[in-house]
Formats: sequence, structure tokens, C-alpha cells
Amino acid sequence: MTRRRISILGATGSIGQNTIDLIKRDLAAYEVVALTGAGNIARLAADARALRAQVAVTADAHRLDDLRAALAGSGIEAAAGQAALSEAATRPAGWVMSAIVGAAGLAPGMAALEQGATLALANKESLVCAGTLILETARKHNARLLPVDSEHSAVFQALVGEDMAAVERIVITASGGAFRDWPLADLPNATLAQASSHPNWDMGQRITIDSASMFNKALEVIETREYFGVVPDKIEVLVHPESMIHALVGFHDGALMAHVGPPDMRHAIGYALHWPERRALPVERLDLAAIGSLTFRAPDTARWPALRLAREVMARGGLAGAVFNAAKETALDGFIAGHLSFTAMAEVVEQVLTQMDAAGGHIDAQMTLDNVVAADHLARRTARNIIEKRAG
Ligand code: NDP
Repeated sequence: MTRRRISILGATGSIGQNTIDLIKRDLAAYEVVALTGAGNIARLAADARALRAQVAVTADAHRLDDLRAALAGSGIEAAAGQAALSEAATRPAGWVMSAIVGAAGLAPGMAALEQGATLALANKESLVCAGTLILETARKHNARLLPVDSEHSAVFQALVGEDMAAVERIVITASGGAFRDWPLADLPNATLAQASSHPNWDMGQRITIDSASMFNKALEVIETREYFGVVPDKIEVLVHPESMIHALVGFHDGALMAHVGPPDMRHAIGYALHWPERRALPVERLDLAAIGSLTFRAPDTARWPALRLAREVMARGGLAGAVFNAAKETALDGFIAGHLSFTAMAEVVEQVLTQMDAAGGHIDAQMTLDNVVAADHLARRTARNIIEKRAG
């Protein structure tokens, strides 16, 4: 049997580690080409050894010597820096997991598509920043994009054998995150530790905080529009505290197809890994009788202004998604560093969008990788200036 050549971008993170967990269960079936990480050199080197990877890359150009030392005697190539990440992604592999966090995942993901790989896309930021470009690149190079976000994997599965013309609406669910039931007046005082703890999912810190603010769901609404090509009016968000139903697709005969599963990312990762087959996965089987009931409520836009901003970004079009994401990432850095309150993150993002919209130029530029990067950089600078002014 020929072994499948695979690479994992963002191997040391939460999604990367869940992917490695699945790969390790059947290691003989895979030839691991590249593993990438950033700060966690020990993890990267240990996994590169365990998976006998061809190359290990850290995004941090200053850590090459550390990585080389950690890989000494293994025969595994070490590389560092942004260019090395993209170079690793161009090495022929049939399946590439895109699980770098943030806009940093865009260029390596594009590089993987350009070599015609199937890209399992956890890095939602790529689609938010440059959806049209990603889809065009995939088409041009005969590459395939498979969703890994649990909601988008759920929609993808509910659509198997269906005609998109029969789809009336796509409903993605949200647990509501850490502050779902908090009094609104307490939200400005939410601490980093409180925002970093998710009631249902075990994820990386940044996406966990984004779940509490609903910026994660805001990105996913835009991701839904880009991936499935539906108009924003057909996309709904439903708060579902138990996180058992990940998404529903409504058809024009009134049927709603729901995807139900445990909150375990290995389901969506495994589906993308084995697609179009459905293979056995080591995830919990739900006992619905024991669960008893599932609950739903409409999202409250006063609690989660990010959801309103996502609609405004989609209506604005152009490179507004790249600006939105970059402003969000910078505001999140500000919250993590203690420079911004929890609720100030959305205020900063809205201010960046307003300022850059008024300035025109960058948001209206053509969607090329260079222009997306330029809009991203300007949005980060604008956000940092706003954060500094607020602090002063
Ligand atoms: P983590 O923060 O756990 O991991 C991020 C990964 O990216 C790590 O390998 C990290 O390296 C690497 N990394 C960090 N900064 C950079 C950089 N500047 N350049 C290159 N690599 C970098 O994130 P998650 O695994 O939680 O999320 C990954 C992606 O998947 C995100 O886009 C997220 O939105 C999406 N996603 C995550 C889900 C989850 O359950 N976690 C669910 C659905 C989507 P190191 O750790 O070595 O520093």
C-alpha cells in the first residue's frame, strides 16, 4: 500500500496535536513531509521524531539553532522563518492540514494549494481575509479545500448529495462561550483567565477568547459565506449551549438537516483526513437519552457586537474581511497583554473598520496576496494607534 504524504502546518497547536493523535494511531499509512510550529520547539522536535518527518520548521527565525539542537542526530531537516514555512508547504504532499492560528496561516496555505494539495482548512482566518483568492487558487491548481471548523464540516456533511439550489438557510451554532450568562454590566471586568476557559471545547487560548467575544462566530459567518457561496441573509447563528449540534442546513421543503456529535475536533479533522470515506474515529458516542435535552436561543447582539460587525464587513466587501481579522487579532493581543478590557476589543475593531473605510484605498484594492497583506498591516497599525490613544 502506498503511504499518504501529508504535512501539518501549526502541528504544535490544539488542532495540530489532535491531527497528530489521529495520524499516530495508523502511522504506517502516512509519510509525513513537513511539520511546522512557532515557539514550542520541544513539541515540534518530539513530534517530528515520532512521526519521522522530512522537515520541521519553526516560524520564529531566531529559533533555528534551538530546533537544530533538538533534532540533532535524527536526520530530520530543520528550517526557520516565514519563507521556510511556505517552502515547506510547497513540498509535494497529497493532504495538508492548515492549522496555524491567525492571518499568518494565509501564505503557507496558499503555497500548499499551489502545489495542488488537498488543504484541510482549520485556519478560518485565510478565508475571511482572502476568500476569493483562496478559492481561485484552489481552482487554478486543481486543489481541494476541505473544511475543518466543526460547524463548516457539519454543513459540508449535511450537504452530501444535496443540491445547493435547494438550500434555504445555513444555521451555525455557538455555545455562547464563557460569558453567555453573565450580566452585561460585568463584561467589561472579565479577566483573561475567565475568558480563556471554554465551557465545552478544549481549544487554543486565542480561539477560546474569540468564542467568549463571539469574534470566532463572526469569522465563521464570513467563512460560511466564502466556503459555501451563500448570500449573508441565508446564514444564521443560533446559540446552543450544549455544543452537540454543530450546524443545520434548511432546505426549501422545510427540512432541517442537523449534524450532531460530541465536542471533539478529532471528528471534523478525521472526516477531512479520510474524506470521501467515513472511517471509525476515537470519539465519544453520544447517549442522547442520557443527555435528555438540548437548548437553543437567539444570539444577543448587545452582548456580542462582533456578530453585527461581521454583517457589516460582508456588506462592505473588498478587503474588509482582512481589515476585520487583523484589527481583531491586534485587539485580542491588547486584551491578552492587559491593555484593553474585554468589551473594548469590539470597540477597537469597529473604530479600525470605520477609519479604514473612510480612507478608502486599502479596502477597495484588488484581492491579491500583496494587497491583503498590506491591508492587514495597515489595520494592525491603526488598531495599535487606537489602543495606545485609549491607554494614554
Ligand atoms: P493554537 O494556538 O493551539 O496553535 C496555533 C499553531 O500555530 C501552533 O502550532 C503555533 O506554534 C503556530 N503559530 C503561532 N503563531 C504563528 C505564526 N506567526 N506563524 C506560524 N505559526 C504560528 O491554535 P488552534 O490549534 O486552537 O487553532 C489553529 C487554527 O484552527 C485557528 O485558525 C483556529 O481558529 C482554528 N480552529 C481551531 C479549533 C480548535 O478546536 N482549537 C476549532 C476550529 C478552528 P507554537 O504553538 O509552536 O507557538
